[in-house]
Amino acid sequence: MSKRINNPERKFSGKRNENVKHAKAAASHRSAHASASKRTVATKAHVRASGIKKSISIKKRAGRTINNREGVAKKIQAGKRLKAKETKSQMRKIEEAMAEKTAIERTKGIIDSIMQNESIISYLNKNVSKRASEVLGLLETPKTDEQIAEMLDMKINGVRRILNIMQGYGITNYNISKNVDGWLSFSWYINNNKVDQFFDYVKSVSSTESTIKDDCNDYFICDRCYKDSKMIFTFDAAYEANFKCSCNKLMVRKSKDDIAEILKSA
Ligand SMILES: [Zn+2]
Repeated sequence: MSKRINNPERKFSGKRNENVKHAKAAASHRSAHASASKRTVATKAHVRASGIKKSISIKKRAGRTINNREGVAKKIQAGKRLKAKETKSQMRKIEEAMAEKTAIERTKGIIDSIMQNESIISYLNKNVSKRASEVLGLLETPKTDEQIAEMLDMKINGVRRILNIMQGYGITNYNISKNVDGWLSFSWYINNNKVDQFFDYVKSVSSTESTIKDDCNDYFICDRCYKDSKMIFTFDAAYEANFKCSCNKLMVRKSKDDIAEILKSA
């Protein structure tokens, strides 16, 4: 554009100097203006282009960033989930350990209460075995009859007999598991929930025994339940129950001698 505008300039003579000057000035002005505006346009275009490029690259970058952010967020979420899972399983392990510890503590307490109770120990000595309390003392945690026999240097049949009688009273029980050789293994434990009942039972039996030493000659039992319950009622206790057993059967009167006989055979 600027060349064509400059061409007529050379053809002009001196006469037309003024005009030429004007034309030159105008041309130069136009040209300057044109190139300036071109520059401006170019610059604007460039700016626009580079702006677009920039904005694209910003968007791209932003996109990448968003993608990255999403990825990171996902990773964080996954990490959190994993951590939550780990924390949960850790918590569960801790809870289990605590529950186990509590159970052991409880069993320890129960063993202590058995050992400190003279009437319980004497009852076990008389009715189970002189070593029954030793066996109970080992059951803070479940143990097999073999383990108990080894620890107490006893014959395994003796240990089994003691454990079976105590199971009859409800104070011991066992879990069966298969060992590596496929043999069934009996893991014995103290049946914590039944110990109170056993205490009550022993108390009732020993109170009956002490009552019999009195002058009273009236005792009552239920023929149907005595075999299992071993409950002997004094006159007062029977009177309070209207002489009816909890099974609804009428109690039978027994003399002091009858009761002595019954206790001997038990
Ligand atoms: Zn009854």
